[in-house]
Amino acid sequence: PYKGITYDNAIKVRKTKLNPALMTYYKKPVMVHQGHMQWLWDTEGKRYLDFFGGIVTVSVGHCHPKVNAAAKDQLDKLWHTTNIYLHPTIHEYAEKLAAKLPGNLKVVYFTNSGSEANDLALFMARLHTGVFDVVSLRNAYHGASPYLMGLTALSTWRYNVPTGFGIHQTMNPDPFRGPWGGARCRDSPSQTIRHCDCPEGQCHAGDMYVNQLEDVLQYSFPKGKVGGFFAESIQGVGGTVQFPKNFLKRAFEMIRARGGVCISDEVQTGFGRMGTDYWGFQSHGVIPDIVTMAKGIGNGFPLAAVVTTPEIAASMSKAIHFNTFGGNPVACAVGSAVLDVIDEEKTQQNSHLVGTYCIQQLMKLRDEFEFVGDVRGKGLMIGLELVKNKATRAPLAPEDVASIWEDTKDMGILIGKGGLHGTAFRIKPPMCITKEDVNFAVAVLRKAFQNYRDRK
Ligand code: PMP
Repeated sequence: PYKGITYDNAIKVRKTKLNPALMTYYKKPVMVHQGHMQWLWDTEGKRYLDFFGGIVTVSVGHCHPKVNAAAKDQLDKLWHTTNIYLHPTIHEYAEKLAAKLPGNLKVVYFTNSGSEANDLALFMARLHTGVFDVVSLRNAYHGASPYLMGLTALSTWRYNVPTGFGIHQTMNPDPFRGPWGGARCRDSPSQTIRHCDCPEGQCHAGDMYVNQLEDVLQYSFPKGKVGGFFAESIQGVGGTVQFPKNFLKRAFEMIRARGGVCISDEVQTGFGRMGTDYWGFQSHGVIPDIVTMAKGIGNGFPLAAVVTTPEIAASMSKAIHFNTFGGNPVACAVGSAVLDVIDEEKTQQNSHLVGTYCIQQLMKLRDEFEFVGDVRGKGLMIGLELVKNKATRAPLAPEDVASIWEDTKDMGILIGKGGLHGTAFRIKPPMCITKEDVNFAVAVLRKAFQNYRDRK
């Protein structure tokens, strides 16, 4: 049994001694005490199915035995030296990680968080191209450092201070809420890939958004030159937004034609979560120049990385670049074990099979309830958006969303929430999840939706 700080004391400390701008989920926040694979326990011993994986971070399962063993083994050998010396783990791991990337993506920089990784990527893009101005998408989340607050284009996460000079945003290619893909979207035969209303192979929505990007480049950039372009492969914090087919491919071509480099933020979409592909960008048929990764890379351990080409890395060699904890032995041992588990336990294949099954079951809920406006995603990167009514797609009132959400927590599942209006449920469980878990979660969601309908 749990014997630590009492719940009431924890709430008091949270209110008086911790960052007040850090939100907690739920009216009565869960005090999580232990985890095992897809399960979490609170201090009172109640078990929850973790459908959000610690914000898409627990990739292969909470306290996965193999990953834990690797961490413990390394703790007893060596924690830290700084990278001014050689240590075996970082070299073994860098080689193993680089081998997971396609094309010329060969050089690894280790950092400790996604924000640090994107900061470094932004710096690299500017240094390599000699152009300061870069583009990101509205509704993107790339991090919270002052440098990145300019790239992150969700108003909830932005402060009214000068941040992110030289960053321009282009229209978000959102098939559900955007002006062109805003027509009713339909599902592909596999029911895992989203398109707009256009006939198969003739989608124009992507073109319209690419035209917007071209406008931004022509009007706002110095002599049409661009330093870089940042995109998530599916927007995470933004509410699981999937882009129209070919958008990313054409955007990459346009950026490269103007001398820019393309950066894929794989912080949420990497390491097999998308099911069919190890990296999210592969599902768009592109290879970026810089890839940033965090969260799932360490299964919850602080570890992140930037992988780039030798040419871009050479531009970084003009001065010393150093990060005290980046690539420390414990983080590298953990990262290396995570890569092994993904392969050995076929978690990518599981993401595809169980994720597709989950999307199909959620689509049934969409057809049953008038306030479930959209179900989207790929693999175990899934979103479900709540609306006032299906025809207008007006967002459901925040208090109504919250009441459904509380109910799902009380019935034993933890789900994320996000999107511009905070009306998208975000389902990104550890990749070890089973079809039985999905059946349980869908039954809970159905009950919570019925309860809401009864209350109304
Ligand atoms: N990129 C994406 C896509 C993210 O979702 C996040 C975190 N939510 C980050 C970057 C920043 O990562 P961190 O919180 O580790 O700095």
